Amino acid sequence: MTVWSNWVGNQSFEPRDVAAVSTESEIQRHVAKALVAGSRVRTVGTAHSFTPIVETDVLLDLSAMRGIVDIDADHRLVRVLPKTTIGDFGEPLWKHGLALANQGDIDTQAIAGSIATATHGSGRRFPSFSATLEGARLVDGNGQLVDVTRQANPDLLAALQTSIGMLGIMTELTIKVVPAYHLHARTDIVPFAEVLETFERDIDVYRHYGLFWMPTEDSARLYNLDGAGADDCVVKRYLEVDAGADVKLGSHERMDRSYRIYPMVYDPNFHEVEYFLPLERWRDILVEMRRLMLRWHPLSMYPLEIRVVAAEDAWMSPNYHRDNLVVSISGEPGVDYWPYLRACDSLFAEFGGRPHWGKLHFMTADRLARLFPRYEDFLEVRRQFDPTGVFLNDHLRPLFE
Ligand SMILES: Cc1cc2nc3c(=O)[nH]c(=O)nc-3n(C[C@H](O)[C@H](O)[C@H](O)COP(=O)(O)OP(=O)(O)OC[C@H]3O[C@@H](n4cnc5c(N)ncnc54)[C@H](O)[C@@H]3O)c2cc1C
Repeated sequence: MTVWSNWVGNQSFEPRDVAAVSTESEIQRHVAKALVAGSRVRTVGTAHSFTPIVETDVLLDLSAMRGIVDIDADHRLVRVLPKTTIGDFGEPLWKHGLALANQGDIDTQAIAGSIATATHGSGRRFPSFSATLEGARLVDGNGQLVDVTRQANPDLLAALQTSIGMLGIMTELTIKVVPAYHLHARTDIVPFAEVLETFERDIDVYRHYGLFWMPTEDSARLYNLDGAGADDCVVKRYLEVDAGADVKLGSHERMDRSYRIYPMVYDPNFHEVEYFLPLERWRDILVEMRRLMLRWHPLSMYPLEIRVVAAEDAWMSPNYHRDNLVVSISGEPGVDYWPYLRACDSLFAEFGGRPHWGKLHFMTADRLARLFPRYEDFLEVRRQFDPTGVFLNDHLRPLFE
């Protein structure tokens, strides 16, 4: 029996069957078979989620369904197969004068997995990857091939844009892209007190702005960040620049094509919790998080990551109709840091924090109903697309049945 596990190894299970598929009709056959057998089916992107959102009976391996199908430069639309990674977009798009509008900390995730969980970068004018989805083909829970497009049904698109694989297996996605751009990236070490003075201005001025705050002297090395001591922040500030701009680069500056600037390198040595909180409360949130983490030392020694994301229309995106401050905290695999995470969850709850679907959280159906205004609408679409729950699992059923 094959044991499946995710990138960091905190989630694993033994699927009854792992089936490599390369066509829509093969996927339809597997869903039809599961419906008869009463078993469950799901697929996986590149397994970077920390939550049990892949676990299933029959795991479809879509590795053969990777690559760009078509680039429509006039309309800035790109059709891709689901396993295409974020990194796969870089060069081919650039050749057509195009780029992804934003990217997160790594570029190894599959586009379908990124969209399914509202994966995001940082920048107050930029929503998550979910907002870039203009349409998709998928095999639904009745085994039917369905086309969802913005033109035909914007509500269905908003339901699909962040749906954690619960509406079906996506086989082709249409993504909105932007004209190619260069970035000038600057990384500075700034004391926390100074960040409180500059934060509001910086998130407006810079195309992308994000930071890591160090609760201890040892925190920086855990994320391969150099030189930052306790109570320092590593602040990332990126501006869009002309390709030929004559910029003298300091030792902590880079200038390059956008897709070469974004990715960082992480070791698989952490689990992550991430919540999205109203951006207008940024000051209270930063001050309270710092206080809480200092109280929970040494369990809280991983850097606190802070990002900003723009509001979007995806019903189950944490950014649904709200600009957010994104707060990420991590812990070491094998260490019992749950009391600390629960304390963080309680603080996030005070601010109406919504979860990242790919990162650890403490949600219940009641909380989701309070936090996501379109939750009931989403449940209705989910039941229509998957009446028997063939795509649900033990983690998702209590939240979305
Ligand atoms: C080192 C690291 C850095 C990260 N950085 C960021 C970051 O900067 N920003 C951020 O927001 N998140 C970040 N994440 C989280 C990550 O982006 C999300 O968890 C994302 O979902 C991972 O993509 P994946 O391809 O690995 O998806 P997976 O984890 O493999 O799958 C995610 C979900 O998508 C579903 N799915 C996959 N393919 C399909 C399909 N074809 N049809 C239907 N459903 C499908 C899966 O069933 C699953 O439910 C990071 C994670 C790690 C480990």
